[in-house]
Amino acid sequence: MPVHTNRGIRLPQNKEPAASRDVARLSRVERVTLPLSYGTEEIRPVCGLYETVMRGSPLTKPESQDELPLASSVTGVFSGTRVISHPLYGELDCAVIDVLAVEGDEEGKPANLDKLGPDKLLKIARDAGIIDELDGIPLHTKLSQWREEGCDFLVADGTQPEPYASSAWAVLNLSAERVQDGLKLAASCVGASGYHTAVFLSPERRRPLAQRLGEHRLFQVPNRYPVTQYARRYRTPLGKKRADALPMSARVCRIGVQACLALYRAAAYGKPHCGAVVTVAGDAVATPQNLYVPFGTPVQNLLDHCGLSQEPAYLILGDMMTGRAAESAELPVLPGMTCILALKVRPVTLTPTVCIGCGRCAKVCHAGLLPSEIVRRLENMHYERLAGLHPEDCDGCGACSYVCPSGREVALRVTEAAHAHGTIFLDWGEEDET
Ligand code: SF4
Ligand code: SF4
Repeated sequence: MPVHTNRGIRLPQNKEPAASRDVARLSRVERVTLPLSYGTEEIRPVCGLYETVMRGSPLTKPESQDELPLASSVTGVFSGTRVISHPLYGELDCAVIDVLAVEGDEEGKPANLDKLGPDKLLKIARDAGIIDELDGIPLHTKLSQWREEGCDFLVADGTQPEPYASSAWAVLNLSAERVQDGLKLAASCVGASGYHTAVFLSPERRRPLAQRLGEHRLFQVPNRYPVTQYARRYRTPLGKKRADALPMSARVCRIGVQACLALYRAAAYGKPHCGAVVTVAGDAVATPQNLYVPFGTPVQNLLDHCGLSQEPAYLILGDMMTGRAAESAELPVLPGMTCILALKVRPVTLTPTVCIGCGRCAKVCHAGLLPSEIVRRLENMHYERLAGLHPEDCDGCGACSYVCPSGREVALRVTEAAHAHGTIFLDWGEEDET
């Protein structure tokens, strides 16, 4: 992907007050809804109706090594199955578990991690059911791919979705050393020659973290959205000279800080990946906060815990720039969700109008695309002519939509164009030639 380091946008930061509050655990969860599979195949649960399942025990028995064994995030009673439609994952077959106990995080003596080879680490990541919060992809799938294709440098991405989420900060604040230990395991698994944790923090927050991890293990990204950390000038860790920067040809791969922590806990204590830290924020939330929740907990439970100053008009799973609107607060928290927003009004108030050709979308696009031109060709159904504009390089960051004065859903259309390109060509005349 082409990278233009001076592109992107500056966003207002709304991370306080959640970022400064301690991480809380949900005191009351009555029922969780957990996927039996994230794929399309039909998988039967291994437990019988009204059987008690222990926290961390498998709900399914995958038939292939590619499938992830999904475990119960709580101790409870299996009370049946249901199909849900989730904005992030589509239609999912799920197990419903009535909760008896949420806890179960006691840790004994950590295992010796020195002699864990790549195959063993891949097995640990798979058996623990770890899913990377950055993209919702199983960690063992990402590690196997990087091991095969090569990875020079591994980054624990402690930067955040924008502008509300602070769950990665909260995790680093609580467990930075363990995150780094997990990252080190992942780096040894894929054969990376180096690793560091990327953050965007104020000097007051960054200094203590640098002391805990070592300055050369912490990396401050620029104050721009989205983070373009693959660029040469952003590859130099704190406390190092520019000459120590990675070469442009180096392949840098990213995993989330929560996935790093889950890998460490799985390797050291045999713990499965059962929950996540989620930021609950937005102007309809009375007490914005980071919460640790078991997977499968209904979003409504998180909103009840934090309180609402008024009934939200708009619920977003994820953050403002890339999150998806949710119809119902009964949807479960699933891996890959690190932020939930409850807002009083819809964030986009402009009624979309025609493109005025101002060029702002192209100016901010960090992938160097021409978003308005891509959208024009898509809308004119000139799919064949999309190929040269590389809509597949779009990562959906949403910066183009954010700056569009006409209120157009540019990012959404560019993503559509990535799937449409090359499938059909309808010639509507000369209009597109100019
Ligand atoms: S959403 Fe895609 S087209 Fe828009 S700015 Fe981001 S990368 Fe560029
Ligand atoms: S920012 Fe909006 S109005 Fe301006 S060129 Fe892009 S799509 Fe058109």
